[in-house]
Amino acid sequence: MKKINANHTPLYREAGFNLKDSITTKEAFAAELDHPHEPENYIYSRYRNPTTVAVEQQIMELEGCKWALLVETGMAAIDVAVSVFQKGKDTRPWLFFHEIYGGTNSFIDTVLIKRRNLDVHRFYANDGLYDFEELERMLKEIQPEFLYFEAVSNPMLIVADVKRIMELAKKYDCKIIVDNTFGTPYLWKPLLDGADLVIHSATKYMSGHGNITAGVICGNDEELMKEAIEYRKWAGHFLSPDDAYRLGSQLKSFDLRFKQHCDNALALAEYLEKHPQIEEVLYPGLESHPTRKEAVALFGNKGFGGMVTFDIKGESDEDKREKCNRFIAALEETIPLVPTLGEVDTILLPVEPVWGAKYPLPGTIRLSVGIENIEKLKGWIGNALEEM
Ligand SMILES: *Cc1c(COP(=O)(O)O)cnc(C)c1O
Repeated sequence: MKKINANHTPLYREAGFNLKDSITTKEAFAAELDHPHEPENYIYSRYRNPTTVAVEQQIMELEGCKWALLVETGMAAIDVAVSVFQKGKDTRPWLFFHEIYGGTNSFIDTVLIKRRNLDVHRFYANDGLYDFEELERMLKEIQPEFLYFEAVSNPMLIVADVKRIMELAKKYDCKIIVDNTFGTPYLWKPLLDGADLVIHSATKYMSGHGNITAGVICGNDEELMKEAIEYRKWAGHFLSPDDAYRLGSQLKSFDLRFKQHCDNALALAEYLEKHPQIEEVLYPGLESHPTRKEAVALFGNKGFGGMVTFDIKGESDEDKREKCNRFIAALEETIPLVPTLGEVDTILLPVEPVWGAKYPLPGTIRLSVGIENIEKLKGWIGNALEEM
């Protein structure tokens, strides 16, 4: 076919590629692991696909790292990242912060412990805050292969003292895996600060439009990359070229979008904090936030993320629950209840039905603030608070 002078990465829907003859086939298989991001030697799309590789290069630039591997979901990225360290009988213990995405905690319970019988330990927070003496004691005693954490907790938006966590891990020769879905490379690039692997649910801010699921594993170390490629290939984790194509297009506006998410979230948090119907607002950019100091240390003046959690005033739990339901009903047409985050449209999630066992808070709502005009957003929310 004649070459076409396209400006954009083409969408290659091939399952397998034309390898021509037995010599080039042998070469392609031999070189497969050597140049994972070079535009050559494509064999089969579960191994590598040119559309996907082009998007991996975009993410490498965003994260400032040497390699990135796309997979079909954030959960798949977590599976790849931790499985890289699973070495049969020689597998060392793993240490996970407990204050992480709920799905990751379920993955730990149902896959790593129940099915793979791995020696997994949890580091718990007290009221969302970390006891570093306890962390050091665990690192010393357990000698884990890696420590896994998120910088920003969900839904309480507690920002960890990341520098201290990473120093402690290094002191005990423990690798570091960071789920940076909430922070995003806009606010923080953990690999530049010494993390070994970073994963993202690209379903959230990276794709940003709530129209695909995707995940990515990022790193610098060559050996880890080879292990991750091997695991991705044989466990069958891969992002379809169609979804990669859309992710690639949507990533081009990532910086612009995320800046607007941060600006809107701060403006909305300040607005809500002054509103007479609101009991409390949790946003790391507010002076009142318990870990504002940590947030400023980590993010500088770039922003504080796009998530805002707030509690509606009420005379009793039942009163709060009813007000919360009326507030949600009043927003049905403008800010829908959708259990995801990081979209250009503002969406909300009530805390009690989702995290009730851990956070039995009947008046609390988590907002994933979108990129709409801020006056319009304030208007929607202000009206709903009036109607409630
Ligand atoms: C959503 C999410 C995940 C899981 O990602 P999926 O794309 O839904 O598989 C992991 N970590 C965090 C912090 C998330 O928000």
